[in-house]
Parts: sequence; structure tokens; C-alpha cells
Amino acid sequence: MTTIEEVTGAEEVEWDLSDLYESPDDPKLDQEADGAERDAAAFRERYHGKVATLTPAELAVATATLEEIESALDRALSYAQLRFSTNMADPPRGALVSKLRERAAAIETTLLFFALEWAAVEDTAADALLADPELDQYRHWLESVRRYRPYLLSEPEEKILTEKTVSGASAWARLHAELLSSLRVTVDGEEGSLETALSRLFRPERETRRETAEAITAALQPGLRTRAYVYNTLLVDKSIEDRLRGYPTWISSRNLSNESSDEAVQALVDAVVSRYDVPQRYYSLKARLLGIERLEYYDRFAPVAERGGSMSWNEARSIVVGAYAEFDEQAGEIVDGFFSKSWIDAPVRPDKATGAFCATTIPGVHPYVLMNFTGERRSILTLAHELGHGLHGVMSRDLGLFNASTTLTAAETASVFGEALTFKKLLGSEDDPRRKLDLLTGRIEDAIATTFRQISMNRFEELVHTERRTTGELSTDRFAELWLDAQTALFGDSVGVDGYETWWSYIPHFIGSPGYVYAYAYGYLFSLAIFRRYELEGDAMVEPYLDLLRLGGSRSPSDLAKVVGLDLDDPAIWATGIDALAEELDEAERLAAEIGLTA
Ligand SMILES: [Zn+2]
Repeated sequence: MTTIEEVTGAEEVEWDLSDLYESPDDPKLDQEADGAERDAAAFRERYHGKVATLTPAELAVATATLEEIESALDRALSYAQLRFSTNMADPPRGALVSKLRERAAAIETTLLFFALEWAAVEDTAADALLADPELDQYRHWLESVRRYRPYLLSEPEEKILTEKTVSGASAWARLHAELLSSLRVTVDGEEGSLETALSRLFRPERETRRETAEAITAALQPGLRTRAYVYNTLLVDKSIEDRLRGYPTWISSRNLSNESSDEAVQALVDAVVSRYDVPQRYYSLKARLLGIERLEYYDRFAPVAERGGSMSWNEARSIVVGAYAEFDEQAGEIVDGFFSKSWIDAPVRPDKATGAFCATTIPGVHPYVLMNFTGERRSILTLAHELGHGLHGVMSRDLGLFNASTTLTAAETASVFGEALTFKKLLGSEDDPRRKLDLLTGRIEDAIATTFRQISMNRFEELVHTERRTTGELSTDRFAELWLDAQTALFGDSVGVDGYETWWSYIPHFIGSPGYVYAYAYGYLFSLAIFRRYELEGDAMVEPYLDLLRLGGSRSPSDLAKVVGLDLDDPAIWATGIDALAEELDEAERLAAEIGLTA
């Protein structure tokens, strides 16, 4: 933020954490953490070595007890983290988080045996147990614990793998993170972090963006071979572990943790890749809007116009609540409750966490939302996004910890949907074609960043993981070639990439969580497909959608999709989401022509 923040009326909007604990000195906080520790020890005493021998009723009791222990701890930890997020410079707040995290890790270790023993139960015996109605409530959770079973090794082997990670993959990942954080970018004679430099690519002056990009490229050069070596090492480390465990492809373990099949994920990737014409068309339109012949890679985030028009907190509240209420009255009431019951911390404040989040899985309590509200339109859509998570959390909170948390791929359903509702409302209330165009370009850029860009990065990962497995170590030049292959496939001729060759080398996801990035596209397009259906079918979709929210994470993503009449195994679902996006692009092109911005 370069300007002095405007007064929005959000300045005094603080959350009230007393629904969790009265204060950090609340004796309940320590009591609950102590209790969880004792209960975890007693749990181990009672069940260790015996999981395979439990009856269905005993297994249900054990799972419920485990859930209760983890819930008590999550509640304390949530409280500490929420409190810390509003003032990260206050040492006692940070200390409470660390203390509870350490206790949580110790309890986690004590309890770990349960999942391992349960996964080790023979299939026939487990199926017989799972068929029992006593286990209705925990069936999905128990089944999902077992999905790793075919890929587990013997206990001593697992132990060696886990212990060696400390000096293996996680040591390399930490080295990479340290190398990145020591990078210094010099622009305009001033030295800064990579993060700060990247944020300058959002500046309106093209010269600033070009200089910044060149400075980043220069800063990425030192240590490039070392970072490439670290990546090579992690690629081979993963290939070894995948081979030992018997995963068929480099992405299979990731798909499994997302409760998805290799085929379904491949269908998503194919669908997105087959519509690279959408981002290409958008980048051509953007070049015309910026008045330049062709975008360079450093122009992609340039603002299309002055994002004018600031909104007060109360106006934002009425738009967002209104959007939800027009969808469904009860949803509107729930969302309004976040404001009236002080579940939101709204203002920008020094030492507060940046960005925005919704803490949804707080067992037995409602979610809390953290915002850095600035009054711009982007901020209103962020508010709608986080309140979508909030609505989801409230609707599913009675399910308990194990059934409420969703996979990564289903986690963004309600947030993206709520953002779409609010976006339509904002767009509908705007008559001025130029401001309409601003809204649309902002929305399309977000969508491209969340879908097409993530899939193009997944394609890069596919290329490097495959090549490491078949051909061997990759040179820095080879990484650059494959990176440009994946990126020019996405851009076509619409974006110039001279100077972009080494930009793969700073993306932390490639290092720390291989295969992760497609989940963004998956979640976004899934939600857009539901929204599309709602636009076509209207009120008939309201109840099924709310049912889906009520189910939280108690079913697999594909079973959740069935609730709203969608089939995640049918590639058409991805095309539906992309079509919705393409229509927004049509509208943006039409508006641009109308106001004479394009030839
Ligand atoms: Zn989100």
C-alpha cells in the first residue's frame, strides 16, 4: 500500500474471541491442554497394539475419543493463533502459539499409532467392520485413513523413511528456502527482497515493471546452479520413495491425498490445456487496453485502469450480505451474523497478519474471519470469499472435527461460489461500461491466475519429474527449456517471454509440496460449475447446494459433487467452468469495443 489508508469505518471492527476463552490467562486453556495430554496417554495405554481386535462398537468409541482429544487441542491452538494474527509483534502471543504447537506435536506423536494400526488391518476384516452401522458416523474418516494402505511399507521401513526425511527431503527444502530468502533484488539503486520486487510487477508504469523484471532475472542468476541441484535432488528423492511405495506416477500420492483418481485429475488438466485460447485472448485484449502491441511476461499483472471507487465497511457489508441473502435467506442471516456477533477482525493494523483468512475448523465453536479491509472492490470480493468459508464452517460445524474438514480440492467450493454471487451483484449494480470492464478484467485475471497459470505450472512439474525419472539429472538450461515449453504453451504468441527463463527457480510449491498446484484449478472450476448450474436452474439448486455445505468433508469430493447433480469423473464438468469464464471474457471484449478501447 503506497497511499495513506482511507477511513472505511472498519477501523474499530474487532473480533471477540471470548467464545473460545476469556483471556490468555483463562485457566480453562491450560486445563484443556493438560486434559488432552492425559487423555492422549490414557488412549495409548488402552488401545496401543489392540486396534485390530476392536469390535465395531469399540472402534466407534475409540474414534470418538480420538476426535475429542484432538478437538480440545485444536480449540486451544486456534485461540492462540487467532490472537497472534492480530498482533504478531507481541512476544507473549507468539510464545503461547509455540508452546501449544509443541504440546500438540507431542500429543500427535502419542496418538499416531491408531491410524497406523488401523491402516494395517487386513482388507476383509476392515470391510466387515466398516459395514457395521455402529460406524456410520466415522466410516468416511476411517476409510480415508486406509487409502494409503496399498502404499505403506513395513513398520521398521516406515520408521527409517520418516527419520531420514529430517536429513533428506526436508533438509534440502530448508536449504532452498534459505537460499531464496537471501536473494536480494536491486532496483533503482535500492536493494530489497524478492517478494518486494515481485509486488512491483503490479505497478502501472511499464518502465518500472520492465526494470524490475530485469533486476529479478539478474538476482535469480547467482546460485541458480545450486537451486537447480537442490531441485534435482528432491526430484530423485521423490522418485525413490514413489518407487518403494509403488505409486504408479509422480502425481499419484498427491491425488490420493486429495481423494481423487489419476484419471480425474488428468481430465482436469486436459480440459484446461485444451482451452489455453482463453488466457491468450485475454492477454491480447489486455495489450490493447494497455495500449501496447504485445504483453511481455512482466506486463501480465499491470493494472488495466485506475481501480477507483472506495467503499465503506457498512456498504461492503450490505452488498455481501445482500448477495448471500438473495441466494438464500438463511445463508444471508448466517453471513450477517459474522458482522453482528463480532466474528470478524476487519481493519488494516500495524503488526497484523497480512491477507485474509477464515479459521473454519474450530471444534464446537463458530468460524472467525480475518480481513485487511481497504474498501477497494478487490477487498469486497475477498470479504465475500472468506464469508463463503465462514458459511461453510457454520453449516457443517455440528459434524465434528473429522467430518467437517474437507480435502484441499473441495475447500474452496463455498468461497468461490460466494465470490461469484457478490461479483454478479456488483456487476449488476454498475452502469458505467468502463467500471464494468474494470470489474470484469479483475475477475478474469483472478480466474486465470487460479486455473490456467496453476495448470501450466503443473505441466512444468510433469515434464521435470518425468525427465528426472527417465533420463536423469536436469541441467539449468534444460529446466529453462522445459519451463518455457510449459509457459509458451499457455501464452501462445500473446506474451513475450525473453528474460523469463529462470523464473521457475523461485516457486516454493515445486520444492515444498510437489504436485500441489492443480488443486487450485480443481477447486475453482468445481465451484464455478456449481455456480453455472445455479444460474441455469435458479432456486432448484439452492437446497442441494446448502446440503453440500452441510456435508462438510464427510464425503469424498466426487460424492459431494453428486449432491449438486455434478459428476467429477465426467470431463464435461471442467469445460462448464471454463465456459463460464470464456463468457465473462466475451463480455469484457464487448465492453472494450463499446467504449472504443479496441480497434
Ligand atoms: Zn479461500
